[in-house]
Amino acid sequence: MEHWNAELESMPWRDVERWQATQVDAFLPALRARSPLYARLHGAASPRVADLADLRALPFTTKDDLRTAQDAASAGAPFGANQGVPSSAIVQALSSSGTTGRPLYYALTARDVETFTDAIATVWFAAGIRSDDVVAHLVGLPMVAGGLPYADGFRRLGATLCWLGGFPTDRILREMRHLRVTALLATTSFALHLAEKGDEVGSETGIASCLRKVIGGGEPGLAQPALRRRIAGGLALTHLRETMGLGDVMPSMWGECEVEDGMHFNAQRYVMVELVDPESGAALPWREGGSGELVYTTFAREATPVVRYRSRDHAEVVALRCACGRTSPRIRCIGRTDDMLIYKGMNVFPTAIRDLVAERFAGRVEPLLRLWKTGREQVRFDDAIAVDVEASTPLVAAARAALVREIEDAVRAQLQVRIAVTVLDRGGLPRSAYKNALVAVREP
Ligand SMILES: [Zn+2]
Repeated sequence: MEHWNAELESMPWRDVERWQATQVDAFLPALRARSPLYARLHGAASPRVADLADLRALPFTTKDDLRTAQDAASAGAPFGANQGVPSSAIVQALSSSGTTGRPLYYALTARDVETFTDAIATVWFAAGIRSDDVVAHLVGLPMVAGGLPYADGFRRLGATLCWLGGFPTDRILREMRHLRVTALLATTSFALHLAEKGDEVGSETGIASCLRKVIGGGEPGLAQPALRRRIAGGLALTHLRETMGLGDVMPSMWGECEVEDGMHFNAQRYVMVELVDPESGAALPWREGGSGELVYTTFAREATPVVRYRSRDHAEVVALRCACGRTSPRIRCIGRTDDMLIYKGMNVFPTAIRDLVAERFAGRVEPLLRLWKTGREQVRFDDAIAVDVEASTPLVAAARAALVREIEDAVRAQLQVRIAVTVLDRGGLPRSAYKNALVAVREP
């Protein structure tokens, strides 16, 4: 078997979208009856969704809508105005990470757990995980989207789940050797940390590492070739696959196949995805090289569903065909609206600066850097943006100054953004085993 959900994964994408529109049409009338949020958003008109054009006429749902809906929580409906089912039908609560404000909660019925599990298994299968894999699941919090749902997905495939997340790093490294772990799910930062620091702790067990597959996610960066080479080379991997999901919608929906060049959409049985212009909200076609914001509709969800949800994730379409036979578009995540900076009135993603520098200066600078803001809320820059990079090899003062100029010129020429570079020695940027902050705050 090459695909987990063979029929939908290989059906022409246009036909998948048509099938999804019929699912949305069947889903909406009951949703409006069950969810005060959607009764309000969609009004009494209850239009039919016969095709994509009808779908695109429906209003968007935003994070603010979900927050307002949650604010209406009561003892009878703890998940608020979008609970959708009686509390007795809910078997699990999930929480957003809460790193950008107070957490949002999501509810799952038994059927929702089933759809999550199958969709996530589809992503893991595309990412090359098989039933003979022994998987170290390193997300430490069961209640977040990447917690229990990810674990369920691995078990559904028949892989051996080793939920090591939450143990101290040294213990994780030892347990991975003892359990003969073949695959690892971790943030990109953790994989990099492992590749760079080596695994002396694991080696002390006297057991050779069996690790060959890494699934990375939780932060963009794995699409960057320089970083990918560093991790894959440092760990002798056969598989290095990026995945992406969204707690508000489905914890994992996108995942790379063996081509390892952009993530396929693998949740087509349960979730519809659209690409829209982030400014105007107008629908955009899936075409190679195109980019826009991802918008999701969970047409199979019973509790806390979303219709045309603005993810604030910006993606670039890498390809519409693939050697693996999957028909869903392949994308790369460019960044989040929340991370966007404005330089002299122009939008720029910190990831765009990082990717340009890491790729253009590969071998001379390390594939990670840090942008500095002067305050947590700073979005606008009129002066050059301060950026720290790490030199890969020791440099004398003149070479260092030349490198600074080259990087500043390259970013200015390519992105029309002025940056002020400081070149640090290798290891000069703080590393974290969890997530490395691309943007940090330095008081002036
Ligand atoms: Zn593929």
